[in-house]
Amino acid sequence: MNNKFHFSCVDCGKIINSTKVEYLCNDCESNNNVTQPPQGVLKTEYNFSEIKARLSSDIFNKLENTGFIDLLPIKSIGSLPYLKVGNTPLYKVSSLNNKDLGFDLFLKDDSQNPTFSFKDRASAIVSAYAKENNIDTIVAASTGNAGSSLAGICASQKQRAIIFVPATAPKAKLTQIMMYGAQIVPVNGTYDTAFDLSIEITKKYGWYNRNTAFNPLTIEGKKTVSYELYSQLDQTLPDRIFVPVGDGVIISGVYKGFEDLLKLGIIKKIPTIVAVQAFGSSNIVNNIHNKQFVSTPSKTIADSISVDIPRNYLMAKKYLLDFEGETILVNDDEIIAASKALSSNTGIFTEPAAATAFAGVLSYYNNNKLKKESKNVVMLTGSGLKDLNAVQSIISIPSPVNPTISDIERFLNL
Ligand SMILES: [Zn+2]
Repeated sequence: MNNKFHFSCVDCGKIINSTKVEYLCNDCESNNNVTQPPQGVLKTEYNFSEIKARLSSDIFNKLENTGFIDLLPIKSIGSLPYLKVGNTPLYKVSSLNNKDLGFDLFLKDDSQNPTFSFKDRASAIVSAYAKENNIDTIVAASTGNAGSSLAGICASQKQRAIIFVPATAPKAKLTQIMMYGAQIVPVNGTYDTAFDLSIEITKKYGWYNRNTAFNPLTIEGKKTVSYELYSQLDQTLPDRIFVPVGDGVIISGVYKGFEDLLKLGIIKKIPTIVAVQAFGSSNIVNNIHNKQFVSTPSKTIADSISVDIPRNYLMAKKYLLDFEGETILVNDDEIIAASKALSSNTGIFTEPAAATAFAGVLSYYNNNKLKKESKNVVMLTGSGLKDLNAVQSIISIPSPVNPTISDIERFLNL
């Protein structure tokens, strides 16, 4: 019996106490089909009343001082990779284009993770769990970031990684996977096809699967960002957090982190979380009030949030409805413009998916939806160097200049 944590099924509520690897709830999984988001995603629960009683006072500081081990599904912090995952910077910006914003804008820069994306938070926990349970092969399907993340983290932990990607994934992400020494399987098909294939092969060979949401521990890794935000904001809550949304796992992770703190009595409410999707990939936002999920094929420049069947749709939807989250859609032109505005104003160059969240905050700002002196956070989930093609349409690298001072003066209009 595992005393530290158990799982609860988001859909039927079944409690699973197990020391084995668990993915989806068996009862709900049998109803799943390829046209609908999966039912039976598991939520990891801890013995919150025991933690509260044991730590008694100053709970958050005590948790933080021990690396939040009480709220992680692993035995020891020592099982995590030696690479520095998480604890990324939170930058405060007070003006854009030389104009005072009138509110606080905080940028959580998760491109500073070892493989340059937020996904390292999930890979680190999955990898540590595998290490503690003597599992040496980890499989993932990915639009690129989760795969390059797992490949890098596994390289640091001396584990074998097998990564399924759609053959159309950006070259930088494919290159990362190769350089980290993982086995890459480019699939002629979409992310969704790669996802299902990777699960089938994992089952066949008894490997461990990191697929987002399918493996409940991915959410446990991603939630750590909320603990960090609470700490970095001097143990206060922001008014709004803008999160880019594809599969719905990052947003569920952000909610889960705050929900843990709520259950421990550390915070009294959950901040307003804004789900930002691209118009071309809006299967969570468009279905949120629908009884029956209807998938629209996705097409957006923001490849890492381009998803037809969101794998954590049901959990993300439940969180957004239960905690009165907000939703917004932005188009690809807004995403590219936001990427440029962010880079030139702050020095942070993000990939289109992260710029999507920034486009969301810009839309709120332009529509006067952010109160004066409010605190607003944008989750910047990946580096712009991962997809240089996406922004080529708005830049034009000049032709070479003759190496003389007079030519350079003419070039610079001096
Ligand atoms: Zn269930």
